[in-house]
Amino acid sequence: MSFRDALKLYRNEALATEAFKEYRLQKGITCKKCGGSHHYWLASKQQFQCKTCRFRTTLQSGTILEGSKLPISYFFIALYLLKNNRNELSIAEFQLQTGHKYSEPLYDFLRKIKAYIKTEDQNSILITFLEVASLAVRVTNDEV
Ligand SMILES: [Zn+2]
Repeated sequence: MSFRDALKLYRNEALATEAFKEYRLQKGITCKKCGGSHHYWLASKQQFQCKTCRFRTTLQSGTILEGSKLPISYFFIALYLLKNNRNELSIAEFQLQTGHKYSEPLYDFLRKIKAYIKTEDQNSILITFLEVASLAVRVTNDEV
């Protein structure tokens, strides 16, 4: 896959949301209210719900994206750009590739992600995304 094609894929917010959900399920979700670890996905709310106490957890809650108002796709775009450039990424480049109007909110976001990849395996996160994307493409092709 070319750089351009890959970026086009990572910019897909619906895929990014699905992939981030998958990534969270793989890591395990802990309920903030009761500590329960069994959750189901409430598609209508785009949130997890605790099977024990029904407390809801947003996709971003308890993750690096908590409090972020930026699209989830930015997380994958940043990981991909960092991976492609030996973990270097300027705000100007990040802004260019996301097409975000303002650079201001990107500073904090990128700083968090750079810290994050020091402890997390960015490859496995990107692989999760590609797995979700390939499933989505297969579903679309079947429908045609
Ligand atoms: Zn609970």
